[in-house]
Amino acid sequence: MDKEYVVIGLGRFGGSIVRELNALDMDVMAIDKDEHRVDEYSDIATHAVVADTTDEAVMKSLGIRNFDHVIVSIGENIQASTLTTLILKELGVKKVTAKAQNDYHAKILNKIGADTVVHPERDMGRRIAHNVASATVLDYLELSDEHSIVEMKATEAMAGQTLIDLDIRAQFGINIIAIKRRKEIIVSPAPDMALEFDDILIMIGHDNDLTRYEKKIAHE
Ligand code: ATP
Repeated sequence: MDKEYVVIGLGRFGGSIVRELNALDMDVMAIDKDEHRVDEYSDIATHAVVADTTDEAVMKSLGIRNFDHVIVSIGENIQASTLTTLILKELGVKKVTAKAQNDYHAKILNKIGADTVVHPERDMGRRIAHNVASATVLDYLELSDEHSIVEMKATEAMAGQTLIDLDIRAQFGINIIAIKRRKEIIVSPAPDMALEFDDILIMIGHDNDLTRYEKKIAHE
């Protein structure tokens, strides 16, 4: 059977999740306490329901514990977001993803038992900062509080050099896990493979090491 999802809070973030899940032919129940927002999604979601998710009795009557994954996308109202998450975990929902507004909010959500806490504004801000600060960094994807994956364009100086020549694993503790070359993706590139200008290096490492490397490249 297909997985069934619930999205609570139909702001821009929650709304876009409902739209994408629908486009992927997934069953999704969309919930908001605001009737107008629910109306907007009545043709997109499998079910669109007006409900206050801080009311445990209402959540029980919706049979929320039978869904596979609930996404709590209430940003502004931290109390409603945390109380909703708490009720979901107490009712035994297996997987709860909650959106945090700030670090403090994220901390509480983690403590309450949210399985995944997302921080879209902060993460997107970081990705854009790395992208604008360096002409070579194309994307920056946070894996945890300390580790990330970075997509970086090979510079002119790197062309013709091998991964052994670059020596970034020994010098920076960074691993190049793949190289995008035109339409091709070379996974686990051989250490003696020569780079071409405009190759895109996909690398993984500790944030401090990645930042050190970015700074070095920016000043070359
Ligand atoms: P955006 O996703 O647009 O960036 P945001 O995360 O700040 O913004 P809000 O504008 O706060 O989101 O919207 C969250 C939605 O959650 C609103 O539509 C609001 O009506 C809904 N909401 C807030 N509290 C509850 C609640 N207790 N029960 C159900 N829905 C709620």
